[in-house]
Amino acid sequence: MASFNHANYTARDTGSSPAAAATPTLGVGPLPLDGREFRRQGRQVIDFIADYYDHIDEYPVRPAVAPGFLARQLPDTAPSWPEPDALASALRDVRDLILPGVTHWQSPRHFAHFAATASNVGALGEALAAGLNINPFTWAASPAATELETVVTDWLGKALHLPEQLLFCGGGGGTLLGTSCEAMLCTIVAARDRKLAEVGGEERMGDLVVYCSDQTHFSFKKAAHVAGIRRANCRVIPTCRESGFTLSPAALQAAVRADEAAGRVPLFLCATVGTTPTAAVDPLRELCAAVAGHGVWVHVDAAYAGAACICPEFSHIAAGAEAVDSFSTNPHKWLLANMDCCALWVRRPPALVAALGTDDDVILKDAAASAVVDYKDWQVALSRRFRALKLWLVLRCHGVEGLRGFVRAHVRMAVAFEAMVRADPRFEVPVPARFGLVCFRLLPADDGTAEATTNELNRRLLEAVNETGRAYMSCAVVGGMYVLRCAIGNSLTEERHVREAWSVVQEQADSVLTPAGAGVAPAARSKGRTIEDARRMETSVHEKWRSPPRTAYHVIRSYALAFLLGK
Ligand code: PLP
Repeated sequence: MASFNHANYTARDTGSSPAAAATPTLGVGPLPLDGREFRRQGRQVIDFIADYYDHIDEYPVRPAVAPGFLARQLPDTAPSWPEPDALASALRDVRDLILPGVTHWQSPRHFAHFAATASNVGALGEALAAGLNINPFTWAASPAATELETVVTDWLGKALHLPEQLLFCGGGGGTLLGTSCEAMLCTIVAARDRKLAEVGGEERMGDLVVYCSDQTHFSFKKAAHVAGIRRANCRVIPTCRESGFTLSPAALQAAVRADEAAGRVPLFLCATVGTTPTAAVDPLRELCAAVAGHGVWVHVDAAYAGAACICPEFSHIAAGAEAVDSFSTNPHKWLLANMDCCALWVRRPPALVAALGTDDDVILKDAAASAVVDYKDWQVALSRRFRALKLWLVLRCHGVEGLRGFVRAHVRMAVAFEAMVRADPRFEVPVPARFGLVCFRLLPADDGTAEATTNELNRRLLEAVNETGRAYMSCAVVGGMYVLRCAIGNSLTEERHVREAWSVVQEQADSVLTPAGAGVAPAARSKGRTIEDARRMETSVHEKWRSPPRTAYHVIRSYALAFLLGK
């Protein structure tokens, strides 16, 4: 049996040994994995997380901290020896130093970007995978982990009403990666190698062209660049408000034909189901028809809105997916599978394996396992996490119906929020709310105001809203319009949070529209509210949760904050 060389650790460290370290100390204490100690420490961590969730709504969503605030409070070097009960002491620092500086992504008032949903079983699934800590890069490296991933990607694909061609049961297959960007990179590389083999080899690299719209997530351009596609060969097709910012099949077809006529090689289309700015849905069937016969790999990035396909009433958004080559979505965004989890399905797995597979690794192969899935050949890296466990737990413990209910609740809240915005004549909803996302903007009283001024007004409104700490939203620029994005989708969000968020927007609109407020930097205008709110909210969290109540650090921090902000 392999043994861990404790002696090396003690010999290298010349610091003095702590007299009574309760935390396992390599070389002088128990083994670093110890069931009894794990149970004791695990309870501390679970209690900590549970307390955090109990009080999360009381934190300002976005922290009022300046760059460098944390580094200044931490020592420059790691400790030579653990302090007594180091984990408990570190958890106190998480509570007192780190939590005041995080953006609370699980806050029910977090409406920015797209949510990263968490759930009890999602978090515990992560804990289970971390505890088992296996590395299923091949089937042989962990047969059950590989097989669970094949089973769970088929389960999810069926739950999302994806066509069978993309699932193992229909000749395709799925895998679990970390992010959508990885899914794009892997599929572009697969498409690239397949195409180069067809058109005459690597010397044609410079002729390969990829297509997307001006609403496609920026990670697509990054993935294409990493895959070696010339930056000049990324066609970004403009969209417009009239067509809901969706990619036009006719414009795509014209671009593909123009490239072919110029001797270039159309390679890859990234269509989006649920764009980041406005959750627009590109028409998959028509886009596939537009490139049919040109040998273009069609990938669907459904990072956010793919989750909505779980509801039969939304499954039409993936209509036409029978003809696509690959489809990806992030269950960590809207399906309760804690970060990170991106499901990618491909119609022809051999294309992925041909590009990303490695066969000079006999050491990893198991003679008995030649006809199995080796997931290392479906991704960039060798090592990988056991993500299937978490997704499987989520699907088992919530069930497809439970997840439908979760998605529908957010959609209902978005409908309610949109109605509130539309009922206030000072605001405009430039595109209808889609899924859980509502885009809106404040209009100046004077119709003739230039777009740039309207945009600046909305930029100030967003900053003012976010400075309150009572709601946190993000923005997008579409068709030249700066819009606020209220993305409803967090696990703890209820209708009352959405109503309060709207009240915050209205209050801040009053403020930015008043002559006194107009032209004044939002930081200066809403300073009083911000600091008072931040102090009130932090104090209440401290009082309810912290024990001992407030450390000297918090008192000093609170006064320093007030001093810095001039209150
Ligand atoms: N695609 C879309 C539509 C997104 O909204 C996002 C992020 O929000 C991404 C891709 C990038 O996702 P990831 O961080 O998983 O790469």
